[in-house]
This record gives sequence, structure tokens and C-alpha cells, in this order.
Amino acid sequence: MQQRVTNRPPFGIELRFDRSEIDQMCVDELEKAAALPAVPSPVNIESFIGKHFCKDYRYDDLPEGVLGVTAFKANGSIKFVGVSNKLDDDSPSADHRIRSTWAHEAGHCMLHPILFMRDPANRTQAFWEQGTENVTSDRRFLCRDQDFNVQGAICGYDGRWWEWQANRCIGGFLLPKYLVIRALETLLRPSRVTKTPELPEENRRQAESMVSQVFNVSMAVSRIRLAEFFPLGSSAQLTF
Ligand SMILES: [Zn+2]
Repeated sequence: MQQRVTNRPPFGIELRFDRSEIDQMCVDELEKAAALPAVPSPVNIESFIGKHFCKDYRYDDLPEGVLGVTAFKANGSIKFVGVSNKLDDDSPSADHRIRSTWAHEAGHCMLHPILFMRDPANRTQAFWEQGTENVTSDRRFLCRDQDFNVQGAICGYDGRWWEWQANRCIGGFLLPKYLVIRALETLLRPSRVTKTPELPEENRRQAESMVSQVFNVSMAVSRIRLAEFFPLGSSAQLTF
């Protein structure tokens, strides 16, 4: 993780993580909480948050358009985590949206306490006092619909980078790399040259639905994750 001071609100500092670093952190935290499945299967993300980050996690009546919230105490510990009760609309995709939102909030819990720690010597304080956004004055992230769209390989460091980072944790927590690779064993083949696993293009569609079913995530989340591991176009060799 790199931390650098900026003159931009709301934090006055910016955190940077490599993609593989976030993935590793997610697996490490799941392991510490004994929440990493032994075989390819859905991660129980909700109970992981309760066991590992904050006992106060709940379905909440959040404002329209807000899917999740993570609130911090002044020492950087987590005050509470919430997911909108409006997400549970009995549609087949509701469970996927709920799980993605918990994973996104777990990302804030893991990566972002440092942004909320009170330190008078830290220039972040100036931005708090100005209250430029509720994120700083209320010391909480309110995560909206559009925040969940900043995914994929394009890094969001020119905008709401903290939301981009939390989105990276959806794949990190719900689709740990080695479990995904194990789930896909029958659809992969070793590269003739490097011997690293490849996903033949003709198997991609089947792989996406298999991952969606085995790990209980949406097709969109599955597709994005597989495109990270096996980029489209190239020979689809396993990367990073
Ligand atoms: Zn968020």
C-alpha cells in the first residue's frame, strides 16, 4: 500500500494498492477469520463481517439509491456496517446484489480505516473540518448505485478511488483466485509453452456460469473476475 498526501478533498491523502495486493489481503483476512472455504463454494460474507470486522452489521432502511454503508469510529475501528433492506426484493438476483454489497463494504472495512483516524498533525483533519462531503464529516461511506459501476481493470484514481478499491474486494472476497481456478479445472488447459492454465475462448461462457453458480455471485461479477484472470483476446493465459 502506498499513501500520499494530496490537496484534494475529501481526505487529503490518497491510498494506492496493487490489484494483486488487494486480492492477497482479502484471502489473508478470510483466513484469519476461518472464513475461507476449503473447497470451491460460496464465502459466507455476512458472517465474516460480523466475526472479523464489526459485530454491528445489519439490514438498514437506507436512503433511496444507497446500497450500503460503513461507518467508522474516531480511532478507525468500524462502528457499523449496513446493507439496504430494499435490496431484498425477492428477485432471483437479490441474493447476488446483497452479497456483492456486503463484500464491497467489507472492502471499506479492510482498506480504509486509516482515512478516518483522527490525528491533529495530519492534514486530513482540515478536510474533515470543512465537511466537504458527508463521507468525512459523518465519518462514513454511503455507497450508491453508481459507485458499484467503477469496476474492472480501469483504475479509478482520478475520481472516487476508495469506491474503486472497495469494488475490487467484491472479487477478492467472493472469488478467491485459487478456489476459482480449482472450480474451473475441467475447463482449463495448460499452455503448451509456459504450462500456466489457459481458458480456451470456447469455454469462457461455461466458465462464467459455473463460477456464478458455485460461488453464488452474479454473472457480471463472474465475468469481470474471469476477465481479470484470463484477459479476453490474448491467449487467455492466467495472469497476475
Ligand atoms: Zn463504497
